[in-house]
Amino acid sequence: MSDYYAAVFGAGISGLSMANQLHQRGKKVLLIDPFRADPEAPGPPAAMVNPSAGRKGNLVWESEKCLNEFRSNIDKLSEQSGRSDLFNATGVLRPAITEELAENFKKSLDEQPWPEGWVEWLEPNEIEEINPGIAENYGGYFIKPGLTVFVDNYLNTFRKVLTDGGVTFSGLKTTYEFHESDFLLTDEEGNTATAEHVIVCAGADTPGFDDWAELGIQRVKGQVAIFETDKELPWKHGLSALGYILRRKPNEVIVGSTYEHHFEDVDITDEAYNRLFGKLEKILPEISKSVKKTGQLAGVRGTAPNHLPVLGRHRNNPQLCIFSAMGSKGLIYSEYMASILADHLVSGSEIPDELDTERIYRRLRKKGKI
Ligand SMILES: Cc1cc2nc3c(=O)[nH]c(=O)nc-3n(C[C@H](O)[C@H](O)[C@H](O)COP(=O)(O)OP(=O)(O)OC[C@H]3O[C@@H](n4cnc5c(N)ncnc54)[C@H](O)[C@@H]3O)c2cc1C
Repeated sequence: MSDYYAAVFGAGISGLSMANQLHQRGKKVLLIDPFRADPEAPGPPAAMVNPSAGRKGNLVWESEKCLNEFRSNIDKLSEQSGRSDLFNATGVLRPAITEELAENFKKSLDEQPWPEGWVEWLEPNEIEEINPGIAENYGGYFIKPGLTVFVDNYLNTFRKVLTDGGVTFSGLKTTYEFHESDFLLTDEEGNTATAEHVIVCAGADTPGFDDWAELGIQRVKGQVAIFETDKELPWKHGLSALGYILRRKPNEVIVGSTYEHHFEDVDITDEAYNRLFGKLEKILPEISKSVKKTGQLAGVRGTAPNHLPVLGRHRNNPQLCIFSAMGSKGLIYSEYMASILADHLVSGSEIPDELDTERIYRRLRKKGKI
């Protein structure tokens, strides 16, 4: 018998959820991340859980299940850790700053299957009332269950709760090799262990795993800038307009993010800063006049061709799995998607075709690439 049911490579948003879902099903998990070895590792200050996407405001894939699953897990983490600094359940406001956006948003509210009680249309004066200083707008909608998540606290707390509960964590570089019926794991200090499954949850680093390079997961760089405001802001919700504007402290705004498809490194750049400041100027014109930049961060997201995550088994080895390509919706997708892969592995349930690795293999076969 193997030492572990699964070795999960990557302890970011998806790896933690994967470990959690398997652990909840009574499985022994080894979670590996040499780049987040520190239990108090720094991370993004804030990110948004917004069930709607893009200029059309359409709901994301299985938004109700995804959001509910994420919320229930983060509530549990807060309770188990006793921490109240993992997230703010203060909603998300999407102001329409053009007439076209207002039309799109109204259409979304009319035609999309918004769950009962999730969303409310607000007229421009109502938006100004809850968000003083906001740019001229044509109304917009308020998503009540939208969240602002303090990602560094969330990741570190999630990992602590998992390891306290029995998940093993290793911060050592580790390789895997398949031998007959399971994987031999060898870390940089020469320690070995075996695992029945390997699950790669390495986000934008996934193409660096030879087994998964052929999936063609794209790397998209993104930057955020943090500003101190001269006065406390009288609202707590997140703003989704030309990206997002989030609050962590009463006198701080976190403005994100850029989408950079061609880049050489993950350094912060002045060009991105100018674009981020431009967004702030457009959405909060008055406030932007008296802000001070206090930080800037860059990261990379992994995305698949149909903009949905990729989960499932490797075409040549069904014990080698992946859960990756979460794009810019990693938080909302994480827990429900991990539960789908965990159910598939443990109970044999189907993975929806639009998420399965097989959808990509089919395309590659058709093109004669595999
Ligand atoms: C600027 C920016 C803003 C964003 N804003 C939002 C937002 O508001 N809301 C939202 O939901 N999402 C947002 N995202 C997207 C979100 O960050 C991603 O969807 C999410 O991080 C994906 O999680 P992941 O665990 O798959 O990948 P990652 O977070 O990249 O984690 C992968 C982990 O794998 C580890 N790893 C890499 N190689 C190995 C290896 N060989 N062995 C072991 N471990 C390894 C890495 O150290 C890392 O910890 C944003 C992204 C960016 C860049």
